[in-house]
Amino acid sequence: MKIIRSPTSMATWSEQLRRQGVKIGFVPTMGALHEGHRALIREARLRCNALVVSIFVNPAQFGPREDLAKYPRPISQDRALCRKEDVDVCFEPTVEDMYPSGFQTMVTLPTIARRWEGEARPHHFSGVATVVTKLFGIVRPQIALFGQKDFQQSALVLQLVKDLNLGVEVVVQPTVREKDGLAMSSRNVYLSSDDRMRAATLYRSLQAGAEIIRRGVTNGKAVQSAMAQVIEKEPAITIDYLAVCDPATLEPLSSVMRQAVLLGAVRLGSVRLIDNILVVAKQARRKF
Ligand code: AMP
Repeated sequence: MKIIRSPTSMATWSEQLRRQGVKIGFVPTMGALHEGHRALIREARLRCNALVVSIFVNPAQFGPREDLAKYPRPISQDRALCRKEDVDVCFEPTVEDMYPSGFQTMVTLPTIARRWEGEARPHHFSGVATVVTKLFGIVRPQIALFGQKDFQQSALVLQLVKDLNLGVEVVVQPTVREKDGLAMSSRNVYLSSDDRMRAATLYRSLQAGAEIIRRGVTNGKAVQSAMAQVIEKEPAITIDYLAVCDPATLEPLSSVMRQAVLLGAVRLGSVRLIDNILVVAKQARRKF
């Protein structure tokens, strides 16, 4: 496995392979790799001839009071995982290479990025959209894989690629979970042992919402309060948002007639967790 740090060397490597007709697959990450990342890497490996994984903790997507400085960076472990999964290139640019002095251009966001994470973390998605655009420009993959875990981020990337004609096939893969249902995340290591035991409550609350939709409840508010009831049993958890949304627009649904995505964000101490479930309404299932 090659470790490439310079964007210019990365672009040259890709350009040579593209000229030979090699299909390049790409998994962008911020490192601290876990089984969720591994699943993306394995799926990517099956779908391309040359596989690039980027490890870049992108300062542009962190707010001023967020965890940029303490974000975990176990680079040797990450490289070992990539080697084991037969990754061809681990692309590890520096902040100075990605944002040299004089850097000015940021991507303007589509409406899909406005609510939920967009509201809770004001600069987050413009940092994500900008770094994804830059990484695609450097790595020039034909295919890139993202996780459903970050549902709104995946929706944003799909819109970005379409609107800016980036020419990358974007594949979204299911969320990988711990045994108790907690969505794997590099930030789970911040949880105290007590909070770790409570953390799967978020998934259970989304499941409670999904369950009543499957049983035929259509009222968005009723679904939202069923989800909230589960969280409220754990006083240590604070709700940031619990939402019943149209998966295409991410706007709240007053009634669920077809599909919904249930989005949730909660806080346990200083740790913020997000998760989501896609669910098909009982009425919609009957038609097939
Ligand atoms: P991150 O390193 O957190 O920026 O994540 C890199 C990619 O891995 C993103 O596309 C995430 O959505 C995806 N990802 C993170 N956690 C999971 C998970 N538990 N299951 C599947 N994909 C994930």
